[in-house]
Amino acid sequence: MKQRYDLLVIGGGPGGAIAARTAAEKGLSACLVEKRPAIGVPVRCAEGIGKEALKEFIEPDDRWISAEIQGARIVAPDGTAMTVEQQMAGSKVGYILDRKIFDRELVWQAAGAGADVFVKTRAVAPILDNGRVWGASVSFCGEERKVAADVVIAADGIESKFARWCGLDTTVPMRELMSCAQYVLTDIDIDRHMAVFYFGNRIAPEGYLWVFPKGERTANVGIGISGRKSRDGHRARQLLDRFIADLFPRGKMIECIVGGVSVCRPLPCTVADGLMVVGDAARLSDPMTGGGIANAMITGRLAAEVATGCIGRNDVSRNALMEYDLGWRSSKVGKSLEKNYRIKEIFIKLDDEKLNTLIQTASRLDLKDFSVLTLVKELIKRNPKMLLELKSLYSVVK
Ligand SMILES: Cc1cc2nc3c(=O)[nH]c(=O)nc-3n(C[C@H](O)[C@H](O)[C@H](O)COP(=O)(O)OP(=O)(O)OC[C@H]3O[C@@H](n4cnc5c(N)ncnc54)[C@H](O)[C@@H]3O)c2cc1C
Repeated sequence: MKQRYDLLVIGGGPGGAIAARTAAEKGLSACLVEKRPAIGVPVRCAEGIGKEALKEFIEPDDRWISAEIQGARIVAPDGTAMTVEQQMAGSKVGYILDRKIFDRELVWQAAGAGADVFVKTRAVAPILDNGRVWGASVSFCGEERKVAADVVIAADGIESKFARWCGLDTTVPMRELMSCAQYVLTDIDIDRHMAVFYFGNRIAPEGYLWVFPKGERTANVGIGISGRKSRDGHRARQLLDRFIADLFPRGKMIECIVGGVSVCRPLPCTVADGLMVVGDAARLSDPMTGGGIANAMITGRLAAEVATGCIGRNDVSRNALMEYDLGWRSSKVGKSLEKNYRIKEIFIKLDDEKLNTLIQTASRLDLKDFSVLTLVKELIKRNPKMLLELKSLYSVVK
């Protein structure tokens, strides 16, 4: 490990890997540190991603694609199911990845492009001078070292501490931190090309439960519920166990994970002098779905591009790095995060009866020309009793 790099990336998830790869491709000396002993494990993810989002960064490869998804089924609290087929869902259809291999492949590519990579290396503190970030102290296989860098990219995920150490407020309100549990279940009957989402306040309060196929008879079966509904920290797992006992009583659990997902608005500012924050560390997962792989890669790439320009101009001040913050905020990512945040706020207030009504109505529609806007218009026409909620929804999606 050198004592000095142009760019230091903290975290070897998709955000950090793409940042390091992009920087190295642009000719920066880049170093990525990951605290875990291996990239990609344990997997804390349901592994779903849209096809288009993925292809922007890497050619799909069977080695790390577990399943191809052709549609989604949405199940109401009363069991009514609505199917969104491939031709209606557009870019929403995608893949279920094998992140153990996928994350590793991204980091491999970063290394291949010339970045230095160190696992079992934890950033323990920023090097600060008058509030300006100059690098980080890292614990490298138990030994503490100082690594100087013109710019540090904090890509340390949902559990991110680095940005907070540098003075940014990264707090996630309890109600906006989803408490998640997931099993890889095998020997179960599933449709291997259909992602299924279950809604309802009894099933998954202020969240949802998912079944994402990983092959013929195997799936990621998981749940996310609002932190404020998860009084004892075990509630997500209890609800998941109850669901599995009902639906997949013979399923065999071969993996079990728990984790958190933020569904709040992004950090108010994602840069400081010498620092940029990307992906989950910047609270950029989608508030509606909890999905954050694509946004982590998009912001990882943008951060490295902006850092390259700023380092070249010898100005890595907060003002100069703001190009990154303003860039993602004004892009499709920023707009869709804001829109989906507002939609989520409407949805979590619906009781089961209203959820049933909406999904029943939607399941009866001919959704050939599917768009969220046409769907909402139809729902308004057919559910005058829910005018208030649907009108606020319309004002968000129009
Ligand atoms: C149960 C669950 C299901 C999910 N399902 C989906 C899904 O289906 N689709 C989707 O798109 N997203 C999903 N997500 C979210 C997705 O996993 C994240 O959005 C994505 O991994 C974010 O990438 P990232 O690079 O920002 O952070 P991460 O992938 O979390 O990577 C951060 C890395 O930083 C490392 N790190 C942390 N601190 C330090 C430190 N001090 N020093 C060095 N390294 C450090 C961590 O070990 C980690 O490897 C899910 C999340 C959960 C919990």
